[in-house]
Amino acid sequence: MIANPEIVWSSEETKVHEEGCLSLPHTMKSRASRSHSLQYLNENNETCELEADGFFSVVIQHEMDHLDGVSLC
Ligand SMILES: [Zn+2]
Repeated sequence: MIANPEIVWSSEETKVHEEGCLSLPHTMKSRASRSHSLQYLNENNETCELEADGFFSVVIQHEMDHLDGVSLC
């Protein structure tokens, strides 16, 4: 479980990628950092951190954009 996620670091290097969404019926190209560090609370209310790169980093950025109300279309 991930609660109250916050990106605490993003690489300066970015990459353009094709991105789809389960909430929207199309794909689009977007640019995102190649890697992120995410801080969050787990199911025991403990602060945790994870490193994401590659496709996982794209997913993290995508879901954080949803939480921040960023529209991808
Ligand atoms: Zn989505």
